[in-house]
Amino acid sequence: MTGKVIVVGAGIVGAVTALNLANAGWNVVLCDGHPPGSEAGASYGNGGWISPASIVPMSMPGLWRRIPGFLLDRNGPLTIDWMSLPRLAPWLVRFLWAGASKSRVRRTAKRLNWLLHDGPERHLKLAQQTGQEHLILQKGLLYAYPDRAAFEAEALSWELRRENGVAYVEWNEAALRQSLPALGPGYRFAVHVVEGAHCRDTGRYVAGIVEAARLKGVRFRQSAATAILDAVAPRVVLGDGETLSAEHIVVAAGIHSGRLLQRLGVRIPMESERGYHVTVASGETPFEIPVMPSTGRMANTPTDMGLRLSGQVELATVEKPPNWERAEVLQRHALASYPYLSADKAPDLRLWMGHRPSTPDGLPVIGPLSRYPRLIAAFGHGHIGIAAAPKTADLVLDALENRICDDARPFLPNRFGQ
Ligand SMILES: Cc1cc2nc3c(=O)[nH]c(=O)nc-3n(C[C@H](O)[C@H](O)[C@H](O)COP(=O)(O)OP(=O)(O)OC[C@H]3O[C@@H](n4cnc5c(N)ncnc54)[C@H](O)[C@@H]3O)c2cc1C
Repeated sequence: MTGKVIVVGAGIVGAVTALNLANAGWNVVLCDGHPPGSEAGASYGNGGWISPASIVPMSMPGLWRRIPGFLLDRNGPLTIDWMSLPRLAPWLVRFLWAGASKSRVRRTAKRLNWLLHDGPERHLKLAQQTGQEHLILQKGLLYAYPDRAAFEAEALSWELRRENGVAYVEWNEAALRQSLPALGPGYRFAVHVVEGAHCRDTGRYVAGIVEAARLKGVRFRQSAATAILDAVAPRVVLGDGETLSAEHIVVAAGIHSGRLLQRLGVRIPMESERGYHVTVASGETPFEIPVMPSTGRMANTPTDMGLRLSGQVELATVEKPPNWERAEVLQRHALASYPYLSADKAPDLRLWMGHRPSTPDGLPVIGPLSRYPRLIAAFGHGHIGIAAAPKTADLVLDALENRICDDARPFLPNRFGQ
């Protein structure tokens, strides 16, 4: 059975979902207040990693002991804004609880693996289908460490990856120098996640997917949803005053999804893990494999715009203005990691801040709402929204066509009582 669906939000999740639904014969309207792929969405400025290794939850055993440090350290990869703490506290407690034991993180990793294991393959197909093969490359992804001991200090993370069949190869110093001479001498050990892929321009990729969706009949409305209603028929009130109705509404508005659903009394715990990027737009990037140096915890991705340094987790409310000191931290790490960058005395730097829509249990929210089964959630992807988008789009289609397999159940909104 097919009918009309409105997809709210044209980030990576909404864009791929709209295309997928149109391919399956649904009549789709996609709406967003901004042009697809614009700077407004997290999908614009992320690291572009499509990593089967991104199954390690952010909340791991013992993290709670480091919270005082996160509150005090202005330069660490994870910070918590003091002023936002009262608002974030309930989310933070649930977040820490989700990673309180090995058995909990093992369960989360297994679920994320189900979502991510074939992400690269799915994106390669999607890129081909949308005529964007040049944007998705599969050269693997590199996790670089000062030495083997630093790698071994993350034993649990790599154990989870091994248990879930993530393929990786260890590189000693000689292999690292040979394959990545641009990386500074501070790194002497690395792990190559062989099947990892990356996107060279995530904003353009999203725009290209929406373009392909339009060719398949999807109607794009550049107008934000001001309200979602579910009396009589599901309806979306647009900012331009029009009200659209449909058989189903897919809510894919990233961090703003929670606010849109609140009006219906639906409360999903989701907060922003704000992240930043600095793109060094001047000069060539002298390497092709994206790197994550362990000391800076940032994804360094060669893109069409230059070397993109993306990372930082800043727990703060959505409304707070960006703290560009966080971007300077990324830049300092980059200068320490890649000596060639210091030769450019006046680099052309582009800065950006975006919101990772994060749930406390580290899993996205995908599927029908219990009280409003015609409303389908597709948000809360935190750090993995690019990688997980194609699989999410399939799960949304399954939900619309009343097929929810057992592996998809942990992602349903009913785990939050919604
Ligand atoms: C610094 C950083 C690095 C990251 N690196 C990676 C990475 O390497 N790999 C990875 O997989 N993920 C990464 N992520 C996470 C990833 O970017 C997100 O999970 C993903 O982009 C979320 O996609 P989305 O479509 O749900 O949300 P968004 O991209 O935020 O899109 C939501 C869309 O909804 C629209 N919208 C909002 N309100 C409304 C409304 N009322 N009506 C209509 N439309 C609305 C917005 O304009 C926006 O276009 C990173 C994130 C950050 C911040």
